[in-house]
Amino acid sequence: MTPPTVLISGAGVAGPTLAHFLARHGFRPTVVERAGGLRSSGNPVDVRGPALPVAEELGIMPQLRAAATHATSMLVIDGKGRPAGRVPMPTSKSAAGNREVELPRGDLAAILQEAARDDAELLWDDTVTSLRQDGGGVDVTFERATPRRFDLVVGADGLHSTVRRLVFGPEPDFVRHMGVWVATMPLDGPSDRPHDVLMHNTPGRLVSIHPSTGRAMVAFIFRGPMVDGFDHRDTAQHKRIVTDAYAGAGWQVPQLLERLRQTDDLYFDSVSQVRLPSWSQGRVTLLGDAASCVSLFGDGSSLAMAGAYTLAAALAASTADHASAFAAYEQAHRVLTDAKQRAAGIATAMLVPRTKLGIATRNVAARVLLGHG
Ligand SMILES: Cc1cc2nc3c(=O)[nH]c(=O)nc-3n(C[C@H](O)[C@H](O)[C@H](O)COP(=O)(O)OP(=O)(O)OC[C@H]3O[C@@H](n4cnc5c(N)ncnc54)[C@H](O)[C@@H]3O)c2cc1C
Repeated sequence: MTPPTVLISGAGVAGPTLAHFLARHGFRPTVVERAGGLRSSGNPVDVRGPALPVAEELGIMPQLRAAATHATSMLVIDGKGRPAGRVPMPTSKSAAGNREVELPRGDLAAILQEAARDDAELLWDDTVTSLRQDGGGVDVTFERATPRRFDLVVGADGLHSTVRRLVFGPEPDFVRHMGVWVATMPLDGPSDRPHDVLMHNTPGRLVSIHPSTGRAMVAFIFRGPMVDGFDHRDTAQHKRIVTDAYAGAGWQVPQLLERLRQTDDLYFDSVSQVRLPSWSQGRVTLLGDAASCVSLFGDGSSLAMAGAYTLAAALAASTADHASAFAAYEQAHRVLTDAKQRAAGIATAMLVPRTKLGIATRNVAARVLLGHG
């Protein structure tokens, strides 16, 4: 029997993990990625919880540790620029078990892509443009590659998934803005505090400086409604939104906004959750943020890796019956994503309190820990 072919759209976190495990189970994966090649930067993410056994089975724990950030705690900075509280990072050496790893998102994707390099055909700098399925397969057209037919298709193409749009419907039907925006950019050099994530709040706004792995990363995370005409690819619009949101802010914010004006490496998006009544339609299913984005505050990378593992195992267990496999994957993995989606609001309230009182209360909780981090 010829091995079943699977097209995976997206080589972020979920896509390469799925490709590796599908190949192990005897499938023939092809991964199509819109980006032109490996990207090395990115805000830090955690590999923890259900992703740890997946990383161990992939044999990538040494690479993850080698790429880990040097942050051990979050240091709250008050309006006068003074430390006002400290919270240990879950990934710091003092944390239980110390198996969790925090590393730049781009490095995690690169390590996973490397792990899947010999397992899948990779189509860089391309995207699916249409999908038409029948009882025997899915006919796929691409922007650049020649049209092909696959047994199955998986959309692992993130929050703004093209596969989801083509098969399930327009993005606004499934993506819910959580009333928060995020912008990140690298600084030119290291942070003054190589082991602390500096966090400075004003009501509804947070600025953080993360030491990352040498080149510090800045994040602007702030509350705001959906913007009319928001375009997730329009960098000039993003710079305007961030600059307006932080008008009048103190601490290092004026210098950071100046840097923002000049940067050509800005990530900006609405902090959103993705919810669909079903993750599959026929021979097409969704994975990672495309299916169930939890938002910035909810272990999205770890869930993406765990979901990929579960999907590959489900397909391996029912090779001839993809419908049962997709259902088993969704039933098992939704338990994790639903719980995280429910908890995301609490993390938002802690990181970006709406009021001065909320900031003060959060800081008191953090101050208890100052000196113990
Ligand atoms: C600022 C920020 C901070 C975060 N912090 C954390 C954290 O601390 N811990 C954590 O666990 N998670 C965190 N996350 C979330 C995490 O990055 C995502 O949840 C995770 O990467 C999801 O993996 P994914 O593979 O589903 O999607 P992604 O990693 O987004 O990958 C999707 C891939 O699909 C590609 N793509 C998009 N469209 C197409 C197309 N049409 N065709 C082909 N390819 C396409 C993209 O280029 C990308 O490579 C954070 C996210 C953000 C934005």
